[in-house]
Amino acid sequence: MKQITLLGATGSIGLQTMEVIRNHPDNFQLYALAFGKNVKKAFPLIREFKPCKVVVQDAHARESVKREFPDVTVLSGTEGMIEVSTDDKVDILLNAVMGSIGLPATLEAIKAKKKIAIANKETLVTAGHLVMEEAKKHHVDLLPVDSEHSAIYQCLNGEKKRDIKRLVLTASGGSFRDKTRAELEGVTVDDALNHPNWSMGAKITVDSASMMNKGLEVIEAHWLFDVPYEDIDVLLHRESVIHSMVEFVDRSVVAQLGTPDMKVPIQYALTYPDRLDLPMTKRLNLEEIAKLHFKAMDYERFRCLQMAFDAGKEGGSMTTVLNAANEEAVDLFLNGQISFLDIESFIEQAMERHQTIQQPDLDTILQIDQETRRQVRSYSK
Ligand code: NDP
Ligand code: MG
Repeated sequence: MKQITLLGATGSIGLQTMEVIRNHPDNFQLYALAFGKNVKKAFPLIREFKPCKVVVQDAHARESVKREFPDVTVLSGTEGMIEVSTDDKVDILLNAVMGSIGLPATLEAIKAKKKIAIANKETLVTAGHLVMEEAKKHHVDLLPVDSEHSAIYQCLNGEKKRDIKRLVLTASGGSFRDKTRAELEGVTVDDALNHPNWSMGAKITVDSASMMNKGLEVIEAHWLFDVPYEDIDVLLHRESVIHSMVEFVDRSVVAQLGTPDMKVPIQYALTYPDRLDLPMTKRLNLEEIAKLHFKAMDYERFRCLQMAFDAGKEGGSMTTVLNAANEEAVDLFLNGQISFLDIESFIEQAMERHQTIQQPDLDTILQIDQETRRQVRSYSK
């Protein structure tokens, strides 16, 4: 029986992780869960899964949980997330909070030698060098939850790193894939949240529409698989059936396919190197689908993806700026304060102003993250 700590339990990945745990009660038990403020969503989960510990964002949410569940230990903030991620009783940390707020818990769980299932891609974008350095030092494997990275992880099973020619990340294109740049002028929050293939949290759905999600994933892939940016390609593939591919030096290409359902990579990250049945997911039927489509990526049309490649190649603190500027700009867009196209121009401004620091330590990263957020907020005034 594996004891799991789940950060971001009330989110899209969190709730699907609960489904996986619910379906395999003999394999997994939820030891602790963390969420932000959404007590309405969290209460039924606490009632059903009976975790020993619960972490919330602030004192207000903490009081509500304590009142409702007097027997549960309730913690709060980053300290709380670190405590439940490094607890002796825990085997696996599944980090599915949204944003770079998840970084300290990931780093400390690696130091405590926990198995890490990582959905929180912002952690790797903001401080990939620190995360991978600690993982190497403590011999900890990071199991990707992101579907593209889970696909690549599966394609690389039993392969040698030196045999990789390139990684090909597939992209569905998001809500605006058929729109020109001119047509993006007047798009609304509701338009952006209407993703054709996946049902996800609001921030990542906007990231998919701007193609920043793929940009963050390119940086995530660079760190997870130690592959240079020159050897990472992105391919538009509207059906989201091929989740990603690896080309090897002998021209052989290995791909991982399946119905688009995040429960598949979530469960794989929890069961690796084993697999378990997943009866509630529709089996892939290629006869029914009949055709798969592919298209080259247009980097002029999807400028956020180009900016992510640029930031990744620049390295150091530039990806921290890219990530923090994007998190803040998307939040402003979701709150109706800026337009969709302002997101990319705000990120561009933040990157232009930044003087890159190579090999930044954790304090420098947290400082640059905060400073970038403050700057981006000032652009909207
Ligand atoms: P959601 O927005 O649906 O959920 C975010 C979760 O994080 C919620 O539980 C939220 O709590 C919690 N949270 C937010 N801020 C804090 C905080 N300060 N302290 C503690 N908890 C906090 O996001 P998703 O599930 O869509 O995405 C989560 C992560 O997984 C992201 O990094 C995303 O990029 C990645 N991912 C998601 C995929 C998807 O299909 N959704 C696919 C691949 C990767 P509350 O509800 O209380 O606000
Ligand atoms: Mg993905």
